[in-house]
Amino acid sequence: MRAMLFEKAGQPLRMADLAIPEPGPGQLFLRVRACAVCRTDLHVVDGELTKPKLPLIPGHEIVGIVERLGEDVGRFALGDRVGVPWLGSTCGECAYCLWGRENLCDRALFTGYTVDGGYADYAVADQRFCFPIPESYSDAEAAPLLCAGLIGYRSLIKAGEGKRLGIYGFGAAAHIVAQVAHYQNREIYAFTRPGDKEAAQFALSLGAVWAGGSNETPPAKLDAAIIFAPAGELVPHALRAVGKGGAVVCGGIHMSDIPSFPYSILWEERSICSVANLTRRDGEEFFMLAPKVPVRTEVQTFRLEEANEALARLRAGQIQGAAVLVIAANESY
Ligand SMILES: [Zn+2]
Ligand SMILES: [Zn+2]
Repeated sequence: MRAMLFEKAGQPLRMADLAIPEPGPGQLFLRVRACAVCRTDLHVVDGELTKPKLPLIPGHEIVGIVERLGEDVGRFALGDRVGVPWLGSTCGECAYCLWGRENLCDRALFTGYTVDGGYADYAVADQRFCFPIPESYSDAEAAPLLCAGLIGYRSLIKAGEGKRLGIYGFGAAAHIVAQVAHYQNREIYAFTRPGDKEAAQFALSLGAVWAGGSNETPPAKLDAAIIFAPAGELVPHALRAVGKGGAVVCGGIHMSDIPSFPYSILWEERSICSVANLTRRDGEEFFMLAPKVPVRTEVQTFRLEEANEALARLRAGQIQGAAVLVIAANESY
């Protein structure tokens, strides 16, 4: 099968011809139809996430068709269309798993990071962590729901129920969260790269009541803010933008250092927290909610062999919505 392979940080992915994987017990064997490109993939290929499996097939927003079943698979049948998220599997035994916080599992495996992902014609995945994909979505439209959507949703829950919500960094996750928040009758204040008029316009088109540069002060105190951009200097900006008791939620897996800031901007019970991974429950809730909103994803599609191009455009801030690799296997195995 074809796969775009990550071998070394700082090097482009290489198109490789690999053996087709075998589904183990409890695993689905999938023909990959689409795989979205996430900022986390950039952190992997740029070497900011330092513990990838090597060599690695990146990609953790996979939409695929079940073509074979490993032993003991009961949740899905041949021909089902399923989604594979970042959380690839958990141990089920550690304290975090037992307390319903499997996103923090000590022995979790992550798709496209510690196990192979979806930048390939085929993939295998643990059936317990896959989701059925709602019929109303095409393959390419569904793919970004699997991380941008899920992590965005978890970030929104962490932000609490306040009405005025700031979103810093208006990429794939933000464009989905904004639609959900709008559906929940919240006011969205979108912060984009200073001067990025297109991103501001995009945010307004998705229901934001205000859009401005990340260095600007919004017209009202916010109840909470979510930071999706991997820029630590946004944390003090966001703390200044939220009112008393406001939460600042960092939604990414990696962020540059947060500069020091005066205690006075954290005072009055403002808080900072991060969002790590997802639980299956997040996924179940989100996939119930998304078709009701209905969340529409804006995607820019690329072929599998264009994965490096998609990553470069994402790095340069040139993707509106989400980048998705649309993958058609050459032939059935
Ligand atoms: Zn565990
Ligand atoms: Zn992701």
